[in-house]
Amino acid sequence: MENKIAEAIRRYEARTGHRFDTPGAVLFDMDGVLYDSMPGHAIAWKKMCDEAGIEADPNEFFAYEGRTGASTINLLFERQFGHGADEETCRRLYAIKSENFKALGEPPLMPGAKRAVEEVLKAGDATVLVTGSGQQSILTRLAADYPGAFEARITANDVIHGKPDPEPYLKGLEKARMEPWKAVAVDNAPLGVQSASSAGILTIGVRTGPLEEGSLLASGADIELKSMDECADLLSYLLYYKADADKTAAF
Ligand code: MG
Repeated sequence: MENKIAEAIRRYEARTGHRFDTPGAVLFDMDGVLYDSMPGHAIAWKKMCDEAGIEADPNEFFAYEGRTGASTINLLFERQFGHGADEETCRRLYAIKSENFKALGEPPLMPGAKRAVEEVLKAGDATVLVTGSGQQSILTRLAADYPGAFEARITANDVIHGKPDPEPYLKGLEKARMEPWKAVAVDNAPLGVQSASSAGILTIGVRTGPLEEGSLLASGADIELKSMDECADLLSYLLYYKADADKTAAF
């Protein structure tokens, strides 16, 4: 594990020019990281599209993960009708998609996520939620599912440019009042990883969905893991990292 971490830090320092130091905050994406909710989102989007006369493949929504709802609706409109959707249409269709999602029942917690968040709390570090979602049915559950965490939140309503733009993660850093080299981001989607990594944060890509091996590294992750359980193990070391004077990894 120490070797894996040292490699991720080397990669981070080489690409940003920053020197990584003991983390004080961990920024977590929500869907596909804290909740195993992506399959439900794909079903909800597909149902909304069927009702609105938009052709779509349920699997395509995994690729849009991280975008705001309005951005996804605009993309679907451009493709189907040759023009974007106005604000009112976006609001109406996103409300339908949200209702479809809610009707599927509560998505389960992602295995390992609770332990990962507990590692952060145990280290006395800040937890920040950075999600492109505006799905109230999940957002209101967070406090009960992850007690003591995620009082600081950046959601779809807090940004102008959603992921893959760095804005959501930059705003997350602002909320935590943390320098990027003293923070860690955890995201499962290529667009989310791109956002975190271009915000200058050490980025853990967690491949919890149907993605090819290496695709999160290709999107800019400093390390790619297979599960949130693996992420919890990694955080239990990474959060206690200290930059040595001679720049070798030390724990
Ligand atoms: Mg996600």
